[in-house]
Amino acid sequence: MNDQTISLLMPALDAAPDHWELRLHIAELHLADGRALEAGELLLSHSPFPEEEEPRLAIARVLLVKHGDEALKLLDQVIEANKACAPAYLLKAEIYQQRGILKDAKKHYGIATLIDESLENPEFEAQFDQSEPVMQSAITKTPVPAGMSDEIEPDDFIETDSTVDEVLADQKKLIDFSDIGGMEALKERIRMSIIYPFKNKALFEKFKKRSGGGLLFYGPPGCGKTLISRATAGECGAHFISISIHDILSKWMGEAERRIHDLFETARRKAPTIIFIDEVDALGVKRSDAGNSASLVNTLLTEIDGASSHNEDVLIIGATNTPWRIDSAFRRPGRFDHVLFIPPPDLEARAAIFQILMADIPQEKIDFKKLAKGSDQFSGADIQAVIEKTSEAVIHEIMRTGNDHVITQKELLKSIKAARPTTLEWLEQASNYASFANQSGLYDDLAEFLQNRK
Ligand code: ATP
Repeated sequence: MNDQTISLLMPALDAAPDHWELRLHIAELHLADGRALEAGELLLSHSPFPEEEEPRLAIARVLLVKHGDEALKLLDQVIEANKACAPAYLLKAEIYQQRGILKDAKKHYGIATLIDESLENPEFEAQFDQSEPVMQSAITKTPVPAGMSDEIEPDDFIETDSTVDEVLADQKKLIDFSDIGGMEALKERIRMSIIYPFKNKALFEKFKKRSGGGLLFYGPPGCGKTLISRATAGECGAHFISISIHDILSKWMGEAERRIHDLFETARRKAPTIIFIDEVDALGVKRSDAGNSASLVNTLLTEIDGASSHNEDVLIIGATNTPWRIDSAFRRPGRFDHVLFIPPPDLEARAAIFQILMADIPQEKIDFKKLAKGSDQFSGADIQAVIEKTSEAVIHEIMRTGNDHVITQKELLKSIKAARPTTLEWLEQASNYASFANQSGLYDDLAEFLQNRK
């Protein structure tokens, strides 16, 4: 029993009430003796709580036994400050589990273990409903658009195309069109066909014009399909959920249909939401060739139909490098009915991309137009690779000579010269489709681009 220790320590705490380490220690001694109420009261009787995450978690650990509401409040504050705080989610899971709210317990346990696998606890997990496995969709990432969500929840962001660790390291921020270099005509088309209708649903409804439907981006790799989708979400003030068909097929084997349904459910709950489906061609292969993935295709079609016919605030954007491989069922009205070509960046766009991607890199005065001129046909990803390569060379040089130095125009031009645009192969292949498979006019904008290129 700790009574004696506690009575020895209490005068010290009375003399230094802000000594949170001591206060916590005494509270934990109470807790160890089974006096959870006293433990909690000792913590709640003094304010404010410390600012740091560690002591806040320790306080929540004591509070959760008999003061669950206060613990939840505190944990929400911890999560608001650090969305990747796995122990905070785990503690929330414990509280919900204690209260018998298993759905929320399971959800928070899923998030905690997704962020930090070492928190996995099969015994704890076993207490959840056995019928449904813990949802392990890769959750998190981009912060909620400022001012658009009344309640920030960790599953505001779902991506499946990278591991949580990568994502946490990356912490992609929410972007908008100002983060996209050039491509003004394309931005305007997206505004007209997607953003305005999405933001003015009532107006469209009044005139009996359907505002839903999906959008399919196609074009050579690395030219901004993903980036523009993410920025479209930013412009619409919508959440962004990204799924990669490749991941669905490889990682969600056996439960892909349920996972897809869960994703759309989350999107509906979090609406307005944009669901971005990358590599949509991998699913869209003619259903006769799709074998096992045929039912996946049907599930996806059903969900897309649901989202567009109920005029929910859920917009689907698909992306592909090979639109000609997509099952025509995906292009029926209400599905991917707007098809947009995302071309390689033109001269102005390339200059802007160089400028955007180099914004935080030490550099001499650079003539970005000149870099753009030298990098004809380069994709955004090619430009990114040029900058990375040049930065690497500069770092080596600094390490070798010990002399600090910034990136120079000459070095950038040298890297550009050594690189080869990755768009050429795609454009060559695409020109066949634009010439021979464009009866429906689907590839008109591609054909126009190729024509102007000659
Ligand atoms: P893939 O077909 O390979 O999936 P993608 O078309 O989706 O490629 P993104 O991933 O959007 O291409 O772009 C690759 C990278 O190129 C981006 O992370 C970004 O750094 C850069 N980039 C591409 N286009 C632009 C642009 N217009 N403005 C700024 N950066 C760009």
